[in-house]
Amino acid sequence: MKILKAMIDLVYPPVCYSCSASSDKALCRECLRSINFIDYPICLKCGKPVVREVGDCRDCRSKRTYFSAARSLAEYDGVVKEAVHAFKYRNARRLADLFAGLLQENLSDLIEDADIITFIPLRPAKKRQRGYNQAELLARALGRRTGKTASDTLKAVRFVKDQSKLKAADRRRNVRDAYAIKKGAETAFKGRKVLLVDDVFTTGATASECASHLAKAGAKDIKVITLARTT
Ligand SMILES: [Zn+2]
Ligand SMILES: [Zn+2]
Repeated sequence: MKILKAMIDLVYPPVCYSCSASSDKALCRECLRSINFIDYPICLKCGKPVVREVGDCRDCRSKRTYFSAARSLAEYDGVVKEAVHAFKYRNARRLADLFAGLLQENLSDLIEDADIITFIPLRPAKKRQRGYNQAELLARALGRRTGKTASDTLKAVRFVKDQSKLKAADRRRNVRDAYAIKKGAETAFKGRKVLLVDDVFTTGATASECASHLAKAGAKDIKVITLARTT
């Protein structure tokens, strides 16, 4: 048993994924306290923090989006940026449940309202390389916590350039028709309210592209939930 525990600790060291301090939780108390949670006023459409609450901000008015609202837990900086990076690239799967718990505490209306949870997919080659899709882990953790179905329904059908290196207009072009509904999942969305999960929201181009396929498949409403958003 001792050996097993040692091996588990080797894979999941009991340290904070942001500051590396010894911690039983995936993020230590200090780091949790320093998260920049997004609070009102926000743009009610994309969830961006603004000075005075608006139904749609200038960014939103300038483009068509296929989701009705997007909300993020926190700003993409400090502890959250560090933790999301570990979640994505350092096999920090343990963060999924902690993040799901924070989403549940802070964005419960959005989550409770959904009939079905799904997530932004990775290309199969990328998922093989990483070993997992962090958005899927998060969606499944939310599913476990809420008793809602978290379904693997979308697929990435072609290569897309790294969105972080592109300007907003190029991002939309970059992801156009890059996603599709998986075979067999076409009827899963008819008349249903969908919660689309991802880790980081930047311009919303990927989320909107995925939402467009969910809308085509008959979804009644699509909302996007992410851990973090750039502001
Ligand atoms: Zn910490
Ligand atoms: Zn907006």
